[in-house]
Amino acid sequence: MMTFTVFGNPIAHSLSPLIHQRFAEQFGIELDYTRSLTSKAGFAEAVAKFFRSGGGGANVTVPFKTVAAGLVTHLTPRAARAGAVNTLIPLGHGQLAGDTTDGEGLVRDLQRVLKCQELPYEVLVIGAGGAASSVIEALQGAGAQVVMSNRSAAKVSALQNDFCDLQALPFGDLARPPRQTSQVQRILVNATSASLTGTELPIHSAWFQETVLAYDMMYGKQPTAFLEQAHAAGAKKVADGLGMLIEQAALSFALWHDGQLPSVEQVLPAVRNALGAR
Ligand code: NDP
Repeated sequence: MMTFTVFGNPIAHSLSPLIHQRFAEQFGIELDYTRSLTSKAGFAEAVAKFFRSGGGGANVTVPFKTVAAGLVTHLTPRAARAGAVNTLIPLGHGQLAGDTTDGEGLVRDLQRVLKCQELPYEVLVIGAGGAASSVIEALQGAGAQVVMSNRSAAKVSALQNDFCDLQALPFGDLARPPRQTSQVQRILVNATSASLTGTELPIHSAWFQETVLAYDMMYGKQPTAFLEQAHAAGAKKVADGLGMLIEQAALSFALWHDGQLPSVEQVLPAVRNALGAR
């Protein structure tokens, strides 16, 4: 039986084993998917050991995505541009490829929630950390106009050097109603870690009222602070990042299993239940 794992720290609550078992059932594949807790100092050796012992593939999560990009022998162009890897694929003879499926995972989830094929929207991404930077290219590729707003403006300026057509919005502008109505409809994406501490962001209710979707990349047992805020302000539609987690996992699965792409809709209820029970 092929073995897969996810490297992270912390990792005890990772939903990846459940998600991948459910995906495997869709194709009649038998696999073992484990969680690997490792330290920063031990990460490279843990990865090497896993693949030496015949590991079929691995996911990488916080805080190792950037380190993983420096560890592999082959980086996909999108992983190279994001400077981050969430999927490790063994190529044989000690060679390892690194890819990132986070951006495409978000795009697919937005398309699923909004029931559309393309993303003819302005996507206002709040935050400019690892998660935000890894989704810019995929959003732009899907036709979205990406605007980024972060508490520390310097991070957005740095990203503007790497990504053409990335627009910036001063963080303070979020506290006031939007200056002018956007030419296209807008999606708000919270890519900050503020929801981790239950902190509300200083966003004026008018931003939520005019958006087609308020989306938090974070997910949890309860609605996140951002989604509570959006709901209270009168947002038409809200969604958390659980769908993104499952979509990026489905894309990793396809990379390891000859392009077989599992159905996300089929596993979402079970994963939502498991999240509620933990
Ligand atoms: P980082 O630590 O790399 O970045 C954190 C970002 O949040 C920075 O832009 C930071 O701003 C901003 N921030 C933090 N606190 C506040 C605050 N109180 N007010 C305003 N801005 C704040 O985190 P990641 O990018 O790795 O993760 C961000 C979120 O995305 C997390 O909630 C994570 O769980 C989620 N995520 C979800 C995934 C999924 O599959 N659903 C995948 C990956 C991430 P500044 O630069 O000013 O400090």
